Amino acid sequence: MQKKPGAIWVMGEITGGKLVEVTLELLGKARELVVRGGGSSTSAVLLGNETGPLAAELIEHGADQVISVEDPRLGLYQNDTYALVLEGLVKKHRPEIVLFGATRYGSELSATVAARLKTGLSAHCIDLKINDRKEFVQVVPAFGGKVYSDIYCPEARPQMASVKPGMFSKPEKDTARTGTVLKENAAILDSYQSPLRVLRVVQKQQAELPLERAETVVVGGWGVGPDMWPILDQIAGELKGAVGCTRPALDEGWTKGEHTMIGTSGKTVRPHVYMGFGVSGSAHHTVGMKDSGVIININNDPEAPVFKVSDYKVVADAKRFLPVLLKKIREHKKG
Ligand SMILES: Cc1cc2nc3c(=O)[nH]c(=O)nc-3n(C[C@H](O)[C@H](O)[C@H](O)COP(=O)(O)OP(=O)(O)OC[C@H]3O[C@@H](n4cnc5c(N)ncnc54)[C@H](O)[C@@H]3O)c2cc1C
Repeated sequence: MQKKPGAIWVMGEITGGKLVEVTLELLGKARELVVRGGGSSTSAVLLGNETGPLAAELIEHGADQVISVEDPRLGLYQNDTYALVLEGLVKKHRPEIVLFGATRYGSELSATVAARLKTGLSAHCIDLKINDRKEFVQVVPAFGGKVYSDIYCPEARPQMASVKPGMFSKPEKDTARTGTVLKENAAILDSYQSPLRVLRVVQKQQAELPLERAETVVVGGWGVGPDMWPILDQIAGELKGAVGCTRPALDEGWTKGEHTMIGTSGKTVRPHVYMGFGVSGSAHHTVGMKDSGVIININNDPEAPVFKVSDYKVVADAKRFLPVLLKKIREHKKG
């Protein structure tokens, strides 16, 4: 007789006392995986101190059960203490699958816990499925983003995956949903002396419009070279948008930082208009922008893969095209 699968867990992430969106997105996906036979039920794990109404919010968004550990030592996220507590919970309850948001918090915590449990972790997944054989399929871009590959974890348990924010839609809140709250404790920390002490969390103030909130995103890839970034900035400014980049542009130091990178290991954007310059269209990048409203790309290679996900393609030298575009936008605005 085939063994009944365990529960699917979603690790709840809290920032500033609130659940982060990706936690709720993952709950929606976890429910879908349960329906497909990948797990017996959906549980959310909540570690913290005075988490108040968050358990109810998790249930309203799809958790059948919330496993809650409230302890002053968990008031602020610390990798070592959180990993110890989560490892203990996994060993006790034996979930089938554990899902994390591929945020800084989730990426670090999932890797630590997977290593401690000696199980597999698929990081930065772009999709999760249960196939006809009831196997858990974790989809990641591979070979420099040229293909999507399916990852399986046939033996070790739990199967663990982290997923980028914005990959799945957030389920509708259902205030009529009911679920249970299982209170656990952090006694495992009694015999542990952490070498770290987190005093407080300071939120960095962002002067510019965050990329994910911009209605127009102007993106520079490796093909624009080092000198065009002030022009990209000015175009974004004229259009009240924001500038994004690809990994090579970030690595070259041409951009304002990691918070501007779009793709598997960066942000997911869905602006009304995405305008890419010198971007080849690797899956590592396109997963983060493919759901934009109108996609326009400028590339000097007529066969560039990015044109396959574009509504408008312009075959041109971006370095010559950009100054002309800026001039035209300004002329148009003057009327
Ligand atoms: C694990 C992993 C995670 C990754 N995560 C990300 C991620 O989150 N985001 C990301 O972007 N990448 C990511 N990458 C890298 C990704 O695979 C690609 O290498 C990258 O997206 C390519 O960036 P690009 O298009 O700027 O550069 P290239 O692939 O080098 O393309 C440059 C393009 O510019 C065009 N071009 C050249 N000169 C001109 C010109 N004068 N005018 C117009 N066009 C021109 C070329 O025809 C080409 O199409 C990741 C890779 C790995 C392995």
